Amino acid sequence: RIIMGIESSCDETGVGLVRLSDDGTVELLADEVASSVDQHARFGGVVPEVASRAHLEAMVPTAERAFATAGLKLSDVDAIAVTAGPGLAGALLVGVSAAKAYATALDVPLYGVNHLAGHIAVDTLQHGPLPSLVLALLVSGGHTQLLRVDDIASKITELGSTVDDAAGEAYDKVARVLDLPYPGGPPIDKAAREGNPSAIAFPRGMTGPRDAKFDFSFSGLKTAVARWVEKTERGGAEVPVNDVAASFQEAVADVLTAKAVRAAKDQGIGTLVISGGVAANSRLSSLAAERCAAAGIELRVPRPRLCTDNGAMIAALGAHVVAADRPVAPLDFSANPALPVDVISL
Ligand code: ATP
Ligand code: MG
Ligand code: FE
Repeated sequence: RIIMGIESSCDETGVGLVRLSDDGTVELLADEVASSVDQHARFGGVVPEVASRAHLEAMVPTAERAFATAGLKLSDVDAIAVTAGPGLAGALLVGVSAAKAYATALDVPLYGVNHLAGHIAVDTLQHGPLPSLVLALLVSGGHTQLLRVDDIASKITELGSTVDDAAGEAYDKVARVLDLPYPGGPPIDKAAREGNPSAIAFPRGMTGPRDAKFDFSFSGLKTAVARWVEKTERGGAEVPVNDVAASFQEAVADVLTAKAVRAAKDQGIGTLVISGGVAANSRLSSLAAERCAAAGIELRVPRPRLCTDNGAMIAALGAHVVAADRPVAPLDFSANPALPVDVISL
């Protein structure tokens, strides 16, 4: 069966196509993404109105490109999955409306699915079926969560999350302080490669003995970096951008991997999946590999292209939802900007 996935929760318009075989394997056939990130860069963050308009313009051409790369026709589609939330209301609405139109025209079942679960499900396109129990560290522009995944199609439980900024948000804010471009993840990752990760001892938030075990906090770290840079500039010295980037990156990777390993041990889980845009970070994956190996935990990190927002992740989740015979969404369902992570499909 061919499953079409549509993503429009933030600033990427994505259309993915996958094949679900009878034995449950899911194969990637097409993954087309159009991003409006350049239109947001000068604002230092996503402008919702601009994103919605861009989705409207990009939706049909992106879908056409996906069918062309896969060598498929619209009539080959057997089911459609669309991101129902969480995300920006206006942006989600464009994808949901398009999905309803395609589903009605093609007379195929439609599933409204969870964007965050999609970030986890995408790993199956690269590494095959998930074991029956996995821990997911979801690190993106809007979320930082530790999730217990008993079944990707039906059961996800939140173990902990950030109490303030998301990890990606901290990257974007620190990049601004360092005069690096938006989004901040890739340029900080690059600068950090030339810097000393132990040059500056930035704080590790929420790691004290009295802090909640699996929660995160990054706003103190962000403020510490800003203060450090300010103080250096006031003293008339040049800011060692590479060292600041490396030291900041080390603090983020340290906290994320330490808590993930702690959660895996606590829950008796043998596999860790790291996903979301920040999973593309080189230091996060290398430190996670080191610590997981030491703790005897299998680590799965999808390739960077699959970590950031795309339609293939929604198609992959759709395929698992179809394979599990989950109920189809009523055609009058609406997008939910605050869809909770334990609601995997509507
Ligand atoms: P959400 O999934 O929570 O709705 P989002 O969809 O905007 O948020 P993603 O597209 O998954 O988030 O990720 C974008 C974030 O990933 C940005 O904050 C960006 O800076 C960060 N990012 C991308 N590449 C890297 C990298 N190499 N290192 C660190 N962060 C990165
Ligand atoms: Mg994005
Ligand atoms: Fe995302």
